Amino acid sequence: MTYAKDGPGSSRPGAEPGHFSSRFYDHRGALHIHTRYSDGSGTIGEVIAAALQTGLDYIILTDHNNLDGKASGAEGWYGRKSSGGKMLVLVGTEVSPPGQEGNHLLSMGIDHVPRRNPADMIEDTGQQGGIGFLAHPDDQPRPIFNSPGYPWRRWDLDGFTGMEVWNFFSSWSAGLDTLPKVISAYLFPGLAAAGPPAESLARWDLLGLRRRITGVGGIDAHALKIRLGPLTATVFPYRYMLGTVNTHLLTRQTLCGDLSRDQNLILEALASGRCYLADHRSGDPSGFSFWLECASGETAAMGEEAPFEPGMILRGMIPLPAQAVLIKDGGMVRRWCSEGGGEGGNDTQRGRGERRRRSRPLVRTNLEFPLLGPGVYRLEVYRTRFRRPRPWIFSNPVYIRPRA
Ligand SMILES: [Zn+2]
Ligand SMILES: [Zn+2]
Repeated sequence: MTYAKDGPGSSRPGAEPGHFSSRFYDHRGALHIHTRYSDGSGTIGEVIAAALQTGLDYIILTDHNNLDGKASGAEGWYGRKSSGGKMLVLVGTEVSPPGQEGNHLLSMGIDHVPRRNPADMIEDTGQQGGIGFLAHPDDQPRPIFNSPGYPWRRWDLDGFTGMEVWNFFSSWSAGLDTLPKVISAYLFPGLAAAGPPAESLARWDLLGLRRRITGVGGIDAHALKIRLGPLTATVFPYRYMLGTVNTHLLTRQTLCGDLSRDQNLILEALASGRCYLADHRSGDPSGFSFWLECASGETAAMGEEAPFEPGMILRGMIPLPAQAVLIKDGGMVRRWCSEGGGEGGNDTQRGRGERRRRSRPLVRTNLEFPLLGPGVYRLEVYRTRFRRPRPWIFSNPVYIRPRA
């Protein structure tokens, strides 16, 4: 192991005192990472070194069908505060049935590898008090990578915690059906920046009508080495992948250095959907927040549920100029733009219940949306890079249910 374990301290307040987001600590991290314990090319020590360089607060390793990283004692705190911060390492597994059926589940907070079929992997994860996320649920066949595609197919099953709304590698490689396309997407990955699959967003919205379901961003890092004639290329190095799609977790208490307590705080934020995902190549989203405010002053964070009452307002805070879209029950209901020269004037009212409104350029980065009825609301944020709006931040929903 390259890095000596150290004490606590990755957390940082998200915003200025008094602001809603100052109630939480925002932990930036990456999940869905493979090492040499399965089909990744790097050791755990190499992954940890890359994650410390990236400035992450936590990582969750998920090798296929084993918890060898955990058995090796890799879980814990790494890095010195003096050298740029400290990072928590946790180990879960990506349960993958044999063969090519797909149905991969990221299982975390467990001590035993779940049985390798879809119903049992969900059940075994739950029975151990763990949490499970459908991995790359809309993965496409990629003949050029020799991959039949590994989507989730068992939509008849329930009991999982959430799903990977955005799997970086799966999205990046979707549609790369010729070698020139692969090479160009490899050399200019920022230009090819595909966001979450529309199918995954649609499923997430549909499931959210029925129950809370956490959306996470995974990177699926393997750092695969491929040979092209005399050259060897790494697709992509850990250092690159770790700086792309991150999942930011919000905790009410700071992490303290006690592994089991800190692990509970991290897993609880994931379980309850108090998190958002963001592509860091488009900017640092730290401080982002999205929440509900009631007329009484009570609030609900991302992932929380509240019965509808008059006077409710959804609020958002975006730390950089961007274009934001409010989604209600799967449809766009409002759009804001604070980017110079962006398209901000479109009338995009589509959901039920709310009056038609014109979106207008933002003076500040604070968003406000008075509610006229219940719905499942989430925020998507885009930033212009290389002349096009690129997917940047995806909040988890706030669930406003009809009054019983
Ligand atoms: Zn997988
Ligand atoms: Zn994977």
